[in-house]
Amino acid sequence: KVRVRFAPSPTGGLHLGGVRTALFNYLFARHHGGDFVLRIEDTDQTRFVAGAEEYITECLAWCGITPDEGPNEPGAYGPYRQSERKPSYRQYAEQLVERGHAYYAFDTTEELEAQRKEHPNFRYAHENRLTLRNSLSLPADETARLLAEGHPYTVRIKMPADETVYFEDLIRGKVSFDTGLVDDKVLLKADGMPTYHLAVVVDDHAMEISHIFRGEEWLPSAPVHLLLWEYLGWKDEMPQWAHLPLILKPDGNGKLSKRDGDRLGFPVYAMNWTDPKSGELTKGFREMGFLPDAFVNMLALLGWNDGTEQELFTLNELISKFSVDRVSKAGAKFDFEKAKWFNQEWIKALDNSSLAPKVKDILTAHGVDHIDAQYLDVVLTLVKERLTFLDDFWAQASFFFVRPLQYDADAIKPKWSADKTKFFENIEEEFGRLDEWSAQHIEPSFKEKIASSGMKVGELMLPFRVMLVGGKFGPDVFKIAELLGKDETIARIKTALP
Ligand code: GLU
Repeated sequence: KVRVRFAPSPTGGLHLGGVRTALFNYLFARHHGGDFVLRIEDTDQTRFVAGAEEYITECLAWCGITPDEGPNEPGAYGPYRQSERKPSYRQYAEQLVERGHAYYAFDTTEELEAQRKEHPNFRYAHENRLTLRNSLSLPADETARLLAEGHPYTVRIKMPADETVYFEDLIRGKVSFDTGLVDDKVLLKADGMPTYHLAVVVDDHAMEISHIFRGEEWLPSAPVHLLLWEYLGWKDEMPQWAHLPLILKPDGNGKLSKRDGDRLGFPVYAMNWTDPKSGELTKGFREMGFLPDAFVNMLALLGWNDGTEQELFTLNELISKFSVDRVSKAGAKFDFEKAKWFNQEWIKALDNSSLAPKVKDILTAHGVDHIDAQYLDVVLTLVKERLTFLDDFWAQASFFFVRPLQYDADAIKPKWSADKTKFFENIEEEFGRLDEWSAQHIEPSFKEKIASSGMKVGELMLPFRVMLVGGKFGPDVFKIAELLGKDETIARIKTALP
């Protein structure tokens, strides 16, 4: 049975890469009718950040990525927070020591610090482990004494000095590692907590995880995990790994970082995140006005495509089309302009009826109380495609509800003339005579008037627009006039004329 997990450490907000990892795991699970597990990897208490787990839960919910099992969805494999599984790890660390694949290390933090000072490239590994204080270098009775006296110790994996290990990555194919290049990672810390390396293997086994999608940054840890699966006697049950490509800066130059977002003015977190210690706010896609569907759609295409030109996918379509074969090895460039395009397309695709309540909130916030449902429906049809974010609605459509507070004078003033004033004074009269007030009738009457005045259409259309709208934007000006109504259109011309 397909069982995958998203295993974030609660150390802060989730950035694009984190949510994409969750998404790919989720898509794979749903595609195969399997389970998607949320596991909180909180064994490093020094990096624990209050509120981070809640953030993760809220973020997944916002994206529509729903765990089948997790801290809030208890299942048969719980608990789903590693800190609550603490008692289960030690026995495996001990077992590894007994089998000669791990050892007790008694070196104090100060001793290791001193080593690091003396040897800038210090690492705890096969070449020097016998010169350090551990159960491999000390006589057996000395080790027994230290343990009996309760000296603090860690358990470290004994990496072979000279072996090649490999596995078949679902995305990268065969990946091999020289074990001698990897140091003796700590598996169990002095406080009795496992490190990530031990906990991840023990839990992936205990939770019967079949496939693991995780970021490429975990590839260097793979040889340690591989050996642990083997040393613990679980090699045949080992999950299949898929290391996802990096998300790159917009120019393709290196990995996208939180700082790039600040520097270039786009969010890299899914939702706003305020660091509880520093109070520093990192902006999120949600608060910027991204629709969850657009955000998820955009993320799915960072490293995956379905082999066609199609770019817009609902979550359900992604589920049915997702396949590991189409995940690329190459890093995926993050393009904020493209992200905005996705949002625009998703807003365009929304029904007016689902947009209306959201837009009403925006109008109410600006003091517009009387909103006619039918009127709003027509306005939405006219302006929907101009919205990158829902909040743009006010800037793009406020003139349908309130008279412009300001006019873009620069757009018309330099070429203003007495003739133009006269034209607009006359047009009031002309409009007054129209029996039917619709774009179809307003347009010819306006244009005939121009023709008889000897001026050009272009010279008068822009001023007309600015009078109604306040600026040089918006949909068809005759449609706007139609919607505003005859009286309001004439009133706006009057108000705007000097
Ligand atoms: N806890 C790790 C993280 O924060 C999970 C890595 C993995 O998926 O193995 O990303």
